[in-house]
Amino acid sequence: MRAYNFSAGPAALPTPVLERAQAELLDYKGTGTSVMEMSHRGKVFLALAAEVERDLRELMGIPSNYKVLFLQGGGKGEFSIVPLNLLRGHTSADYVDTGHWSVQAIKEARKYGGVNVAACAADKNYTYVPLEATWKTDPNAAYRHICTNETIQGVEYFWMPECADGVPLVADMSSHILSRPVDVSKFGCIYGGAQKNIGPSGLTVVIVREDLLGGAHPLTPSVFDYTQQAASEWMLNTPPTFAVYLAGLTFKWLKQQGGLAGIEKVNIQKASLLYATIDASEGFYRNGVAIADRSRMNVPFFLHDEKLNQAFLDGAAAAGMSGLKGHKAIGGMRASIYNAVPLAAVEVLVAYMRDFQTRHG
Ligand SMILES: *Cc1c(COP(=O)(O)O)cnc(C)c1O
Repeated sequence: MRAYNFSAGPAALPTPVLERAQAELLDYKGTGTSVMEMSHRGKVFLALAAEVERDLRELMGIPSNYKVLFLQGGGKGEFSIVPLNLLRGHTSADYVDTGHWSVQAIKEARKYGGVNVAACAADKNYTYVPLEATWKTDPNAAYRHICTNETIQGVEYFWMPECADGVPLVADMSSHILSRPVDVSKFGCIYGGAQKNIGPSGLTVVIVREDLLGGAHPLTPSVFDYTQQAASEWMLNTPPTFAVYLAGLTFKWLKQQGGLAGIEKVNIQKASLLYATIDASEGFYRNGVAIADRSRMNVPFFLHDEKLNQAFLDGAAAAGMSGLKGHKAIGGMRASIYNAVPLAAVEVLVAYMRDFQTRHG
């Protein structure tokens, strides 16, 4: 029996993806070996890798002047890898601080160069995205970094910065990549750890515009050098082959859901239902994020009486739900409703929330 899984990450994968992987586990396409047990430089895996990259390019509409890299190091690894690759001799970069993951990115970037915090939402406890018009940007910045979905605070950008001064926009999309269409051409670089919306942990996806390559700091580890990895079609070292394979199955599954426009419709339904339930509870449940910036992927909420938290979680577990405990940094509850979480799971959750309120309200 599969749980209704609201884990923030590593998170739910589509059941058909896991079933397919299970069916192919011992014998991948008649090779007599698992996809885990073959050379990443062999014909079979190289064909798979090319198809996985093609499917991601098609899903996201990635223009041909962008490289797609499947690397290791995770989202947090990219917090160092980005400045190492993209400072390109500049003295500093702009960062917009919208929450926990922005703070981490800024902390790491400061090891490699100057950081200009162009805007910071800490004044309202990270419950909104500061509008671009309020940003104190530096036209000489090497790049401008944003976290387009703050996984812990549940704050998401539903508009994309223009960066009219031509400074390349860099985005950590770890927790909402592939949840809706984005215009990749607006970005210099997009990155994300796979374990929220793509596949298992251990895989990091990087999409980088070609004109930003060639300027990595000389101390950049080769395996984290975008230019070297692009030149070797991300086979400079052994990529996380099984994770790449599973990501590929997820891309196929997404195409069957109508691509990113198709999955976005479902994601809107799921998020609307959950926020409507919170808002209709007359304060029994509370989400403090500005309405326009409420994340469709991560929905933190608090019970009016924190003493009920454990009873809420115990009841949810008994009803087959997992992963609802909020991040320790902010407490309360959090329902992560990534692509692989079906509408039916959200329906079970909101029915439980209403029932719990009736019993404890
Ligand atoms: C989870 C997450 C990270 C960190 O990912 P790791 O793979 O654990 O390093 C970074 N940024 C965002 C937005 C995340 O959600």
